[in-house]
Amino acid sequence: MTPCEELRTRGSDLIDGDCDEETARKLNAHLDECPDCNPWFSSLQSTVGLLRNLPKSRPPDSLLEHIRQATTRAK
Ligand SMILES: [Zn+2]
Repeated sequence: MTPCEELRTRGSDLIDGDCDEETARKLNAHLDECPDCNPWFSSLQSTVGLLRNLPKSRPPDSLLEHIRQATTRAK
């Protein structure tokens, strides 16, 4: 596996802190030197951050209704 493939496979583990120290060090070192993986990882990080910030409860019914109407109209 190339370092790029490894990073893309384990990127979310790295964000979650699920990598062992050795792997995390290797992936971080690769991020520092790879112009392809660096922006990829940044966007992954912000995506994960957004997901984490979503409220756990379901959206209010008024919002669901709004979405339903909007999608119905689009058809
Ligand atoms: Zn790379």
